Amino acid sequence: MSGWDAWLRERDELRRQRGIDRFDAVLRLGGPDARNRDPIDLASNDYLGLSRDPRIVVAAHEALARYGASATASRLVTGTLLVHRDLEASLCRLTGQPAALAFSTGYAANLGALTALSGRGSQILLDAHAHASLHDAARMSRVPYATFPHNDAAALDRELTTRAGHRVVVAVESIYSVLGDAAPLRELLEVCHRHDALLVVDEAHGIGVAGQGRGLVHELGLAGARDLVITLTLSKALGSQGGAVLGSTAIRHHLVNTARSFIFDTGLAPASAAAACAAADLVADDPSLAAAVNSNARTIAAICGIEQAAGAVQSLPMPSPEAALSAALDLRAEGVLVGCFRPPSVPDGISRLRVTARADFSGPALHEAAQLVARRAGVFEPARAAGTVGRPRAGDAP
Ligand code: PMP
Repeated sequence: MSGWDAWLRERDELRRQRGIDRFDAVLRLGGPDARNRDPIDLASNDYLGLSRDPRIVVAAHEALARYGASATASRLVTGTLLVHRDLEASLCRLTGQPAALAFSTGYAANLGALTALSGRGSQILLDAHAHASLHDAARMSRVPYATFPHNDAAALDRELTTRAGHRVVVAVESIYSVLGDAAPLRELLEVCHRHDALLVVDEAHGIGVAGQGRGLVHELGLAGARDLVITLTLSKALGSQGGAVLGSTAIRHHLVNTARSFIFDTGLAPASAAAACAAADLVADDPSLAAAVNSNARTIAAICGIEQAAGAVQSLPMPSPEAALSAALDLRAEGVLVGCFRPPSVPDGISRLRVTARADFSGPALHEAAQLVARRAGVFEPARAAGTVGRPRAGDAP
């Protein structure tokens, strides 16, 4: 056994002891089984059911036939295709932002936005529950960074006051998927404006769901506001793959020149760009999609006896990581896929079943599936979890 084998074995043993081994392959199997039977999907991020919508699939097919399977180069070489420009225009139309730049993933979009917009003499402040990609982006920015208490505009105000004289980038999410709460974006932007800070809002869980599908920023009348940047993933409600940063044309221009995860990355695959473009157009033209996912989320929350979360994902607190895993496995065996989040992927250390509402799954079938989840999850009061949970790590939800 080499030194590396011994090291890997030791790390594995540590994960096992802490109960944080993520390799529950059986739980993570999604999609049709070997006999092409679909499980009931209440776990994926396909909030509007668009990933298999015939209109989206046809758009992807056409782009595949027209451009091939790959963009074949980085965007600044020959990897910018007409379909990228169409996608960026559609994302602007959907969100009301002046300019958009597509990235190969939402993760790369966050890396690009934060690294390019910080730089010498600047600092970064993250909401304590911000997604792992925002934490990683802050680290990669090589500037001082810190977190401020979750959704606390007064605390942000105090943090910005102590940083007077510095250029500060503040990064938050619009809707947090684990706790399911929405950010007080108006208050946060007002504080940022007062301190001349730039606000980056990750709308990963807001787009397609909040604001009749146009996102929480749009719903609050903040689209196009100064010193406001939105980042998106195209892989949740838009049913495709990829990411984007949206802001002023000057911000787009700056990112094209300085965002390393844009410059040194192959352009978004044409089929993904075309699928996301068609999805963005559908969402912009048809507010009933967002209405349906919200109504189905309401049904799930009511049947499971929990307060409805702001986004598509409804979280059921569980007494322990083991109870969460076993309930999720039981549901899997019964043909229902739900998410299972345990420490360190939960900001408050409380394990949860995550049940995702979809626009295209409703009626008696949804009632039946939600009742099954409610039975398996039982009724659990989160306060009782104190002391039974592992060490939380901020921003670590997948
Ligand atoms: N931001 C948030 C808030 C997310 O939840 C995710 C996906 N888990 C991402 C960014 C990354 O997006 P992508 O999967 O497109 O890389």
